Parts: sequence; structure tokens; C-alpha cells
Amino acid sequence: MEKNNNIEYFDLIIIGAGINGAGIALDAALRGIKVLLLDKRDFGGYTTSASTKLIHGGLRYLEYMEFPLVRESLRERERLLHNAPHLIKPLQLNVPLYKTNKRGPLVIKLGMILYDLLSYDKSLPNHNFHFLQKGGNGFEKGSILRKDDLKAVASYYDCIAQFPERLCLEIVLSAKQNGAVVKNYCEFLSMTKSSDDYNRVTYKDLMSDLSISVYGRVVVNATGPYVDNVNALINKEIKRRMGGTKGSHIIIEKFANGPKEALYIESHQDGRPFFIIPWRDYYLVGTTDIYFEDDFDRVTASEDEVKYLLRELNYYFPKREFVHNDIFYSYSGVRPLPYEPGKKERQITRKHIIVDHSKEKEKIDNYISIVGGKLTTYRSLSEEAVNLICTKLKKDINCRTRNYKLIGAAGIQSIEEYKKEYTAKSAKNYEVPLETADYLIDFYGSNFRDVLNLTISRSDLKDPISSENKDIKAQIIYAIEKEEAKTLEDILIRRTGIGTNKTLGLDCVDDVSKIAAAKLGWNETIRKQNLEKYIENVHFFYEIKGSEKKMETVK
Ligand SMILES: Cc1cc2nc3c(=O)[nH]c(=O)nc-3n(C[C@H](O)[C@H](O)[C@H](O)COP(=O)(O)OP(=O)(O)OC[C@H]3O[C@@H](n4cnc5c(N)ncnc54)[C@H](O)[C@@H]3O)c2cc1C
Repeated sequence: MEKNNNIEYFDLIIIGAGINGAGIALDAALRGIKVLLLDKRDFGGYTTSASTKLIHGGLRYLEYMEFPLVRESLRERERLLHNAPHLIKPLQLNVPLYKTNKRGPLVIKLGMILYDLLSYDKSLPNHNFHFLQKGGNGFEKGSILRKDDLKAVASYYDCIAQFPERLCLEIVLSAKQNGAVVKNYCEFLSMTKSSDDYNRVTYKDLMSDLSISVYGRVVVNATGPYVDNVNALINKEIKRRMGGTKGSHIIIEKFANGPKEALYIESHQDGRPFFIIPWRDYYLVGTTDIYFEDDFDRVTASEDEVKYLLRELNYYFPKREFVHNDIFYSYSGVRPLPYEPGKKERQITRKHIIVDHSKEKEKIDNYISIVGGKLTTYRSLSEEAVNLICTKLKKDINCRTRNYKLIGAAGIQSIEEYKKEYTAKSAKNYEVPLETADYLIDFYGSNFRDVLNLTISRSDLKDPISSENKDIKAQIIYAIEKEEAKTLEDILIRRTGIGTNKTLGLDCVDDVSKIAAAKLGWNETIRKQNLEKYIENVHFFYEIKGSEKKMETVK
């Protein structure tokens, strides 16, 4: 169905609201540009929620001489620590160096020195490096980490976004606060030239099933791994840009005598470095790196990938035998990397490319594609993209995001100081446990009060949603009222921490669906449809492949 009345005009239409599309929307909105941001899923619901969650320089990229990228990432890491201190936390990583490693201690030491030099303006500490005597002399004392042949250990700092989905959401909400129109569940369908000044963009609102046309002077394709798919809808002449690789993670329990700090270890199978990161009550283990040419809508961790990660755990923790049954769930995503045929996965550049299609063979004016880009560098990528957009719009306005605090960071300089001042006071005022107030500050920053204010007239909203988590029922209402949540997945997986705990929210999804139904006006049929869809998706995307062999040893 075509809607012809009330056609809206925008300076900029962005297709794709992962971290990069969201970042471009915020940067542009802050420069006074009229923006429409569209995503066929939820904000941050694709690659952005499938990462290792690190806000990092990328120690590994030094091996491939990507010095400018590492410098840019380290500078952005520091900015994010200031601009979103409730969401981005320092993370200590240990790199144990074994006799059998491909990279020797001196290479790693050199890498660490370079990493420190490239982050000369950081607030985090410099690295430490120790040669060890037999038995690991005190390193990870009490931990069952393999100590045979351990020669040295390097320790350094990067950062972690505990919930990258919330980082993306806060960028979207900050863009909205500054005038951008933001729409999830709206799928781009087509773009045609309408006049010299405008492109006509048609999208489908997947919630209402309506097709809607709008006009935009500049259009940006920020669809991550889908860049080529969207380009093909616009012009078949556009050459292939995307050479994505799949990466999978597993979530396991925080086992007894496990590592206290995050580990960055060389795989004993193929020499690739991988991470074991304490994350919430679990360890996050990953990742893999495999070319992916399949269906982007159905990306899951394969049985081989799960086994690869289990084998690493069994090698590095020989006193514990990890089996499929130890894994709570897995998740997987496709890195939107530039197409570089003939290269090994790990050799593909992690640098982003901003393609101005007016300069390519297809010569499409005012159309730009974003290829690549890490979570960490979303802001600098966005600055570069919006500089180009401003040139096209003939606007001369400087970027304002460098020191711009995201929506929940308003009024927070140091999160520790903020918590000291407000946690106990708020717990008392709102009559909630200290740990609830503390948790909500980490989640919402200074907006935590808006969540707790909902409990003033309804004290039942102080109740926890699940016995596995600190999230409270008020967060469900807040997600719907203030955070654009439209489905159970949005609420459970990307607005609260429920859907990513070890139960995947299956212990409480029925209760959540009832609260959501009342708020969103779902009748019983729609509620049940939503419930079934949630359960089906969770099983499909997160369930462990090969789990029928749940107790079988993986060597
Ligand atoms: C396994 C793995 C580990 C990673 N680890 C890290 C890490 O630790 N640190 C780091 O900095 N980076 C990491 N990354 C990289 C980072 O996650 C991604 O590069 C980044 O999230 C890409 O964001 P994006 O916005 O470009 O793409 P996406 O997040 O994929 O967003 C694109 C959006 O476009 C939408 N879309 C697609 N087609 C359409 C359409 N037709 N209409 C409307 N919308 C559409 C999609 O629904 C999607 O939401 C990792 C990536 C992977 C896969």
C-alpha cells in the first residue's frame, strides 16, 4: 500500500541503525541536519550486539602494521570513557606467554610498548611485563589456568562495553533528543532520483505493513554486512564491497578457580589470539573468524566453532573438562569487512571505507556506503562520514561529538564518584536494595531516576523480573515508554540484561509478555504470537549446536 499524503523531506536518510548508522545520525543531528534513521530490525540488533564487547585499540592489528587504526581506536577508547562512563569500563587483560606460542615474549613486549606509545594521552595505566619462573610464580594464583611452559605474562588495559546494545541505543536516543527521527522495524525497499536535489526513498514499516515514501537529499547505506544487498536494490552496477567473516562466542559459567582477569591467549590450534573475559556472572569466550557467504538473516555458531572454543578451554584449563553442557548459550555475528579476495580472514583490514558513489563507475550523486568499522571507532567514522555529507549539503558546520556526553552520561564525570553520591541515597529514597540502585546506574547512567520514578505510583514495579538478574519490572515499562522497545526481544535482549543471562529470559518471558501486552495494547492472540516468536528465535540463534552430545569430551 502506498501512502501519498504528508510526504516528509529530510537532509539525510540513514539506512541501518547499528552503531555506525546511529553514530552518523547523532553527529548529523548535532550539526543541525534533518535526519531520518531506519532499521529493519531493532536498533543495534545485528552485528552491534554480536561483538566481543571490547572498546579497544586492537593489539592484534599491530601485527599487520595498522598503526593509524590502532591510534584512532585508542583515542576513541579514551573519548568513550568520558562520554559514556556508565557503559564503558576499564578491563585488565593478561596475555600469558607459553614456550609453544608462535609469538615470543619479545614480540609481545614490543607490541605492548607500541600500544602504550600509541595511547600516550590515555587515562588508563601502561602495561606490565614479567618473565616467570617455573610454576608461574604467583601469576593467576589459585587459578587452574595451564602453567606448564608458561614463560612470561604481559598485562595491559582496554575497555569493555558490558552492553553494546545499550551503547547503540543511547546513541540513537541522543540523536532523537537532538531532532533526528528514529524508526526501528522499518525496512528500506528502494531509492529513485526524484529531482536534482532529492532522492525518493521507500521503506516498509514492518509493524504496520505500510510502505512509506520520503525524500532525502543525501542517503547513507550503513547496513553493515548487508551493504551489497542494499546497493543491489539501488543499482546493479555497484561493485561488491563486503567480504564479511563470521565470529562466534560461547557463554559459560564463572567456574571455580577460573581466571580473575580477562585473558588474551594464543589458540593452541591455529595461533589466532582469542579472549576469555569475565562478563557479568559468566565467562565470555571467543571468537572465531571464518569467511561467511550464507544467509545474513540466519547466522549462528556452528558445531565446529563451538568445538574449537571448547578445545581451547580444555587445553588451557586441563584440570577442568569442558563439555557442551557447560555452555549456557552461543551467539554469532558477521564482521562487515571490506572485500579483499585472496586474503586470509585475519589479514583483512579492520579499517573502514566510506564510499562516495558519485566518484565510482555507477556515478550516483548524494549516495554513500559505509564499509567496515568497529564498535570502538563508530564516532570517528561518523565524524568522517558527516564531514562528507556536509560537503554535499554545502554546510560548513564542525563536528560536535568529540566531547559530547551520551544521554545517560549527563552530569557524570566519574562513575565511581557518581555512585558514591547517589547509590545509597537513591536506594533509601526509592526504598529499593542498594544493589538495584547500583545496577540501574550502570545501565541507565543519570537516567536511572526516571526508571525508579515509575515505582513511586506502582510499588510492584520494584519487583525483580527474574531471580537470575537485578533488573526490575519498571525497566519493562521504561523500555516501552522511553526507549522505543516494540517486541519481547527488544525488552529482554537489548533493553534489559534478562535475555542475555543464562536462562535467555525463558524463565520469565511469559510474565514479561503480560506486562508488555498491557502497555502495548496486545490482545491475547498477539501476546502469544510474540511469546512464540521470542522462544523460537532464542532457540534458533542462541542454542548450542551439538548439545545432544552434551557430556561428550571435546579434545
Ligand atoms: C564476532 C565479532 C566480534 C567483534 N568484536 C568487536 C569488539 O570487541 N570491538 C569492536 O570495536 N568491534 C567489534 N566487532 C565489530 C563491530 O561489532 C561491528 O563492526 C559493528 O558493530 C558494525 O556496526 P554497523 O552499524 O556497521 O553494522 P550493524 O550493527 O550490522 O548494523 C547494520 C544494520 O542495518 C540494518 N539493515 C540491514 N538491511 C536493512 C534494510 N534493508 N533496511 C533497513 N535496515 C537494514 C540491520 O538490521 C542492522 O541493524 C566485532 C564484530 C564481530 C562480528
